[in-house]
Amino acid sequence: MEKQAEQKSASAVPGKFHGFEHFCKASQYTFAGLKACVKGEAAFRQDLVVWTINLILALVLPLDLAVRALLIFEGCVLLTTELLNSALENIVDLVSPGWNEFAKRAKDMGSAAVFCILMGMGATWLLAILRLCKIW
Ligand SMILES: [Zn+2]
Repeated sequence: MEKQAEQKSASAVPGKFHGFEHFCKASQYTFAGLKACVKGEAAFRQDLVVWTINLILALVLPLDLAVRALLIFEGCVLLTTELLNSALENIVDLVSPGWNEFAKRAKDMGSAAVFCILMGMGATWLLAILRLCKIW
């Protein structure tokens, strides 16, 4: 995480919502989360670039439908993993402002989760390219 998030007072805790109001509030929280990640996380901005390139190539190249679907799905898993990793980093920074071995491990594990999906995408692209070039 690049900077500490603002801490709101306990009185700012929102109430519970139901039905359509809940849907509207959930949408607001979703966009707030995306905005915070775009603003505060360089890694998320880089992943957005990867997601965009992946999406365009998956739609434009003459790939099997299943391969296209897998690549698009993996792109969404990449963004999901980065969002969860960033959320974890924020919580760790909140509860453990100083250096701590467990905090370091938690952050390293979040980073490793992003690495795993990137390896999956890389492997899928390698196989897709081998198939496109009729090598495999
Ligand atoms: Zn980060």
